[in-house]
Amino acid sequence: MRLPAGGGTRRSVLVVVAAVWSVALAVPAHAQVPVAPAPPPTQLVVLGTGTPNADPERSGPALAVVRGTRSYLVDAGPGIVRRAAAASRNGVTALAPQHLRVLFLTHLHSDHTVGLPDVILSAWTLERDVPLEVYGPPGTKAMVEHLLAAYSADIRNRIDGAEPANEQGHKVNVHEIAPGLVFDDGNVKVRAFAVPHGDWEVAFGYRFESADRSIVISGDTRASDAVVTACNGCDLLVHEVYSAERFKTRPPEWQRYHARAHTSTVELAALATRAMPRQLVLYHQLFWGTDDAGLLAELRAAGYLRAAVSARDLAIY
Ligand SMILES: [Zn+2]
Ligand SMILES: [Zn+2]
Repeated sequence: MRLPAGGGTRRSVLVVVAAVWSVALAVPAHAQVPVAPAPPPTQLVVLGTGTPNADPERSGPALAVVRGTRSYLVDAGPGIVRRAAAASRNGVTALAPQHLRVLFLTHLHSDHTVGLPDVILSAWTLERDVPLEVYGPPGTKAMVEHLLAAYSADIRNRIDGAEPANEQGHKVNVHEIAPGLVFDDGNVKVRAFAVPHGDWEVAFGYRFESADRSIVISGDTRASDAVVTACNGCDLLVHEVYSAERFKTRPPEWQRYHARAHTSTVELAALATRAMPRQLVLYHQLFWGTDDAGLLAELRAAGYLRAAVSARDLAIY
């Protein structure tokens, strides 16, 4: 089909364009010129929703942001490498052990770091052949040095013995960070922001941004405007939470601690209403006898009306 030779009116051009469209729409889908597939969206893979409570259904706190072939871990609770392997078997191959290359720590509480030697050593033994990059608060470097010292006999044994171990994958490049832009590899950008978490001098939340998505992870924190500011209409807000109802049954000394260190369902309802995420994902849930539905019911009763879900291990959002 040709456009009319010069002199055609604007109206006739519009008619022709409309005709072209109608023809295009009539062509069967399989006959149309293929377009490049959209890149896979950035995903949040929940590796562990646990807390210090040793719930066998919930691995230690760990998340992964995955975009294309690259994965970025946030926190290293116990069980992290096995949960990552499970996600890989489920099709998220960027979480296969050899691809665990970048880790962001929110803070150095043991429930968030007991899996750190797992990420350092197991992933190396399973053929990661580049150093692990670890981003975290002051103290991260000392923790990594002590872990490597603790496992020095294992490392020497694997390298010097008959095992075909590579000589790079057990190494760690530590980046002790301050709030602000801390990472940009062209695939994702990561900003750290300070959150108040009990007696920790430094604890972070993280905001991940890619071309298609913004994901904000609270880390462990009491209710904080820092999270509201970091999210500000983000796609996903992944926030820790405890049951405001069951809190009332806790001993006074624990109530004092949790009120300073963590966020209740009622507080989260208020802050998430202001943060306006497209979806709120509860994790690091302190249930104290309630369950996922109970936490969500508390959130609704406190007036939170937007989309929300209470995460289980290996869920993908
Ligand atoms: Zn924790
Ligand atoms: Zn903590």
